[in-house]
Order: sequence, then structure tokens, then C-alpha cells
Amino acid sequence: MDPYAVYSDRATLNPEPLNLCYLNLVEPLNLSIFMKNKNLKVILISTPWPLYSRPSIQLGAIKAYLLSKHPDVEVHADHSFLKIAASIGYPLYHEISERTWLAEAVYAALLYPQRFDLIEKFFNRQAKSGSLLEKTGFKKITSATKKITDALIADGDWKNYQLAGFSVSLCQLTSALYFIKRIKRKSPQLIIAIGGSTFSGSTTSEFFDLFAEVDLVVNGEGELPFSQLVGYMKTSANFSELPPIPGIVTAETVKINGARKRFQQMKNLRDLPPPDYDDYFEPLKSSASRNMFFPTLPVETSRGCWWQRISSAGKSSGCAFCNLNLQWEGYRTKDSAQVVGEIDSLTARYQTLAVSMVDNVLPRSASKEIFKKLAGLKKDLRMFAEIRATTTLPELNLMAQAGVQEVQIGIEALATSLLEKLHKGTTAIQNLEIMRDCEALGLANYSNLILHFPGSDEQDVAETLRSIEFAVPYRPLKAVGFWLGLGSPVWQNPGFYGIKSVFNHPNWGCLFPSNIFASTRFMIQAYRGDLGYQRKIWRPVEDSLKKWQQIYTEQNCGPQRSPALNMRDGHEFLIIRQRSFSSETINHRLVGTSRLIYLYCRRHRSIKSIRDRFPAFSEDKILSFLKMMVNKKLMFEEKDRYLSLAIPVKHF
Ligand code: SF4
Repeated sequence: MDPYAVYSDRATLNPEPLNLCYLNLVEPLNLSIFMKNKNLKVILISTPWPLYSRPSIQLGAIKAYLLSKHPDVEVHADHSFLKIAASIGYPLYHEISERTWLAEAVYAALLYPQRFDLIEKFFNRQAKSGSLLEKTGFKKITSATKKITDALIADGDWKNYQLAGFSVSLCQLTSALYFIKRIKRKSPQLIIAIGGSTFSGSTTSEFFDLFAEVDLVVNGEGELPFSQLVGYMKTSANFSELPPIPGIVTAETVKINGARKRFQQMKNLRDLPPPDYDDYFEPLKSSASRNMFFPTLPVETSRGCWWQRISSAGKSSGCAFCNLNLQWEGYRTKDSAQVVGEIDSLTARYQTLAVSMVDNVLPRSASKEIFKKLAGLKKDLRMFAEIRATTTLPELNLMAQAGVQEVQIGIEALATSLLEKLHKGTTAIQNLEIMRDCEALGLANYSNLILHFPGSDEQDVAETLRSIEFAVPYRPLKAVGFWLGLGSPVWQNPGFYGIKSVFNHPNWGCLFPSNIFASTRFMIQAYRGDLGYQRKIWRPVEDSLKKWQQIYTEQNCGPQRSPALNMRDGHEFLIIRQRSFSSETINHRLVGTSRLIYLYCRRHRSIKSIRDRFPAFSEDKILSFLKMMVNKKLMFEEKDRYLSLAIPVKHF
């Protein structure tokens, strides 16, 4: 997965013994509630601002797991964000949910009304001019959000529940804290657990002082710790005797164990039942919103990332900017039959064919089998998946046949020198190849180009600009500025990237009071380093990306819908049509060995391999042909490797 999808475009989850002293700060705990909770009721809550058009996989997965282990317990998954989206209007909700800072600002102003003016100014700086947000205005947005949120909390049957679990991802921090504060006020005996990617780092004792309504934090994956907690609450006579549960942190245990991260996760994912999305779909049956959008079903085939390894010293070897896997240890996958069975049963149960694979990265070995079997379902699925640029053409082909229509590829850069710094394990020529293949297969590729990465230099920029000239026939990449993620390799080893100091992003200081800002480590960090230099050197790339977008839109909106650089093979000859933005279409005809070399380089090939394949021709002759093709932008060359750029009008 690309962490930039989470931060820049919008947001995703996840969620130990109680500190009685701390609980007393709120209201004396009624221990009788732990006296054999025969009819234990648990509520799992996802607050704004996840995408409203899909249920929370975190809630769905934990609910299903809890019910499988504790059929006698009542578990309800409250997608409060859906109700809020319906109330304030989907377009407005969507705009807010697109940017973390906008999303966090809304509930920050409700949490800390004395900071309203400051937060309003902050919000206005972030909102695009002419947007619905700007037209509506911060006061209206916050008052509408408060009205519906307070009504939901007032109507909630909180006293009937004994345990509430909040799943908190990147843009859900302030909203979750607001809900928690209000709910705890209404029902002080309700045990509040909080978890998710936002809380997968170390929890400090200050945390429990600052957020006194939170009773416990689930570190890492939620199923096992939460299930053990529920098991204890069913039978326990005294909550103060809760035995230590790995993965659960309380104000008490944090004093003993310190802020050390302790996980408890499933050895394999075979024991996970399919997620339960009933609570999301139930209200849609009767509401007018069922006609407003088609819900997408989130499905996971794996957890973690196989590209990322964590050393015994805790250092990550994955992509330098990535902090997506803080809540997992290692990489685990479901088997193909399990995944396909889930997709089959979930689409049938909820009568929707849109499926989003939420894996950070799809499994290397099981993927082929999964997509083959999905194609065998003969359902008209419409799927989205995040993939690495090393995904091969046959794999892409299987994905397309199974119904994948949109992908996000971990492209991140179009300069191999920068890809090395990013530790992507890929090259620019590989990126161009997969971009071309997606275009050929009709897979809409929504990928990012990271600008301002600390330590990038003029050479990286020059390489990027050159690659963009060759990439213009393909769907443009979206520019995203580098942001420093807590726990990412760059954050762990800042000096290596020329970073002088690391601290909380100052935007948090606008949203939170100074005591919280000073003593909490937030997921989005900031740094002192070469930012000014980075902004300057990347400006030409920003301009170039805008132009690329303009050209691509122009070329794909007119009557000539075929790719701007396409090829048709006539066996004895090959016709390449090159339609450029400013000049006439040029037709190229390749015959004989020229055609064969061009077709051979549909995979990027080294000069040695081309020479070995066509021994009848001297290296000089081959090189002069390749050079000519590169000059015409029909092929791309990188370090003596060559790639044909034309998009076959027929699938490979
Ligand atoms: S480390 Fe893994 S999950 Fe993170 S960006 Fe790289 S491939 Fe994706």
C-alpha cells in the first residue's frame, strides 16, 4: 500500500488491565459490572472521517472474530461516520475526508472550543479556494457536525454496553476523542478501548493522564487481545485482577512495562472468519442513501508487507518513507480458497460487486491463484488493488480478467537514483513498463510521485524530468509532497537523510492544546533539513506533471480514444502511431528485425540480451537502431536496458 493514499487522499485501522486510580479521575468505577457479565455487550465504533462508501474492515474483522469465539456475547459495529456523512451531505463529507488536516480540524474545534478561532484559520488555509468547504464555511460545518454527533451520542444506548472499542486511523484521532469524551460522560462505567494504526506505536503513561477517558489501548492487531479481554470480562469477578494481556496497555501496565511495544497477533490468518458488515449495510436498506452510492466491500488477503523486514534491533528495511506496518509483525497471508470464498460470499450477502483489496501489498505467491479463482466465479466484479511495480504482465492479465479495474502501484519516483534512496527495490524502466502494461490492459493506474524526499538532488530531478517525457502516453502520476511518518525508516535514521531534527508536525500544535502537543508523539512528524532546497529543485517537476495531466486529458477525451502511442502488429510489419500534443500524428512502420527487436523489448531488455537474441546483427547496428528509437521517444533507455513504449491496441 502506498501511505500517501492514506495521508494525502484520505484515510483506513485497527485497535490491556485497568488503572483503577485513573478511572477514579472520571467517576468511581462500579466494579459490580464485572461480576460475571453473562450478557456482555460490546460496541465497536468507527468515527469520521473514513470513506463513507465502505464499511470498516477493522470493525468487520474484529466483530466476526469476537462472535466466532464468544457466540454468547452481543457485538455491535457502529459506523457512526456513515450516519454523519448522510446528515451533513456526502459531497461535503467527501471533501473533508480527502485531507487529514481538514478532517482533524473539524472535531479539534469541537473538542477545544476555546481554540475555535485558531483552528478556523488553520482550516481555511487548508481548504481549496472555490471548494464546497470554503463555500459552506467552517462555522456551519462544525455546527452541523456537532449537532448530528451529539444527537447520535444522546440517543445511544451506552449504559447497555460494558465495553466500547474505538478503531482509530490517521484522520480519526480528534473525532474519536470527541466521541469518547462525550460517551464516557454519559456512561462512566463503560470501558473504553482504543486501537488502530494511530495507536500502534508505544503508549506512554502520559497518554493516560492526557486522555483520562481512555481505559486501555490495544497495541497492534486487535483480534487476540480484544477477544481475551472479552473472555475475561465474561467471567471475571473483579476487573482489578485482570491478568496481563499482551497487546493491551493500561495506565497500570504502562508503569510496569514502560512504553515498550508488545503485540499479540494471530500466527496465521486462516482462523479469521469473513468480516461481518451487517451493521453497515442494515441502515442502508431503509435509507435514501442506498440510491446515492454503491458501497465497496473491503477485503484483505494479507497483513503486513513482504518487502519490509524488521531487524532484531527494530530497524525497518522497507520503503524509506513507509510507516504503514507498525501494527503488524511479519507478513501473513490468507490462502487463495479462503480469499475467494470470502469475496464470493460477501458480494452475494451484500449484493454489491465493488471490492477493494486493502492489503498494503498483495501476496507474491498466492495472488495468481486468487485472481484465477476469482475469474472462475464468473461475477462481474469491479476491484481495486495496491501492487508493487514488480508485478508481472501475466499477473496483471489475471487481475484484469478477474475484474480488477483500478490499481495503485508503488511507483513513487521515475528516477532510479531516487528509487534507490527510497529503497523501493525498483527502477524507472520497470515503472514505465508497468505503467504501459496497465494502459494496455485498461487498468486505471492511480499512483503517486513523491516530491521533496530529503536527500534527493538535481540529478534525481533531471532523471525524473527525462522519464516524464517518455511517460506522457500513460496515465499521469499525482504529485505528493514527502511527509515524515512516525516509525518510518527515515524517521528512525534521520541523519542518514540529512535531517537535523525531528519533531511533531506543527499543525498538531494548532489542533491540540500545548500540553498535549508537547507530550504526545503524533503519526505525522516534521523535520529540519533541506526542505527549502527540495521545494526549489522540484518545482520544474510540478510544472511538468501539470502539463502531463493536461496532455493526457486532451488526448483521451476526444474522438480518438486509442492510446496516444500505440502499435498494431501485422506479422511482417509493425505500425506504431504516435500522436503528440502539439504536432501531427506520425506513423512509423517497422519491418523484419526492427519489428522483432521492438517486440522483444516489450519486456525491458539489456543490450547483451538483445545482441544474443539477434546474433546476425552487429552490436553497432543494433545500438544505432535503438538510439534512433529512443530519440523518437518510441523506446526508453536506462543503463543499457531498453523498453518499447508503444501500447498494443490488442491485449498482450
Ligand atoms: S514498505 Fe511495503 S507497504 Fe510500505 S510502501 Fe513499501 S511496499 Fe508498500
